[in-house]
Amino acid sequence: MTTFSASKLLELWEAGVSRHPIDRALAMLSLADVAGPLAEMPLGQRNWHLMQLRRARFGDHLSLWLDCSACGDRMSMEFGVSDLPDTGPGGSRIVVEGHAFRLANSRDLANLVSFADPELAAHTLFLACAESLETLPQGEALDQLMDRVGEAMDAADPWADLNFEAQCPACATAHNVPLDIGDLLWQELEIVARQLLDRVHQLASAYGWSEQAILALSDTRRAAYLARLGT
Ligand SMILES: [Zn+2]
Repeated sequence: MTTFSASKLLELWEAGVSRHPIDRALAMLSLADVAGPLAEMPLGQRNWHLMQLRRARFGDHLSLWLDCSACGDRMSMEFGVSDLPDTGPGGSRIVVEGHAFRLANSRDLANLVSFADPELAAHTLFLACAESLETLPQGEALDQLMDRVGEAMDAADPWADLNFEAQCPACATAHNVPLDIGDLLWQELEIVARQLLDRVHQLASAYGWSEQAILALSDTRRAAYLARLGT
């Protein structure tokens, strides 16, 4: 399922550190055992596979921090993968009132990065996902169809846009907290990658071993040698 070896993890970090989050998510997704063009995988499937990678490396428990927008207090949130939708990834298309739409994917997100107007972005995404532009209604009917398609996509593919409710323990303000599994996994991988770089530096400095040799050691052996250095 996953190949999170030390050297693979550092390769991933190096490839993603200066990239856009969308590209990082795709780079991480390349470690999952999935077929087909990754950029065209529906977002719900992408997020579901990223979560499986995350589970394989970091387990089922998730910890998030959020600064309350009302009182400024830092909120700590703990939850498990079992708190997320248990439906798994959705399909690849929906049909609303006779009109067929594919589900949005990473390529769509990349095309919307430069859009400053969220309404224009949503309209552009809607048209990009429509399988037949010629049969779409016009004017107010189009706006109504857009709303229904948005609701249908959320229902058909809940993993595409994960979020959960949280209440600030200090002021009781309710928050709807988005969960970007790609960002979360990247932050966790980056911490591990920087720790690995520190350990390579310490062991290479002390013993003169190559990076390749140090990364080939198991976590247990690296820790044992570091303990003998008093670190
Ligand atoms: Zn608060």
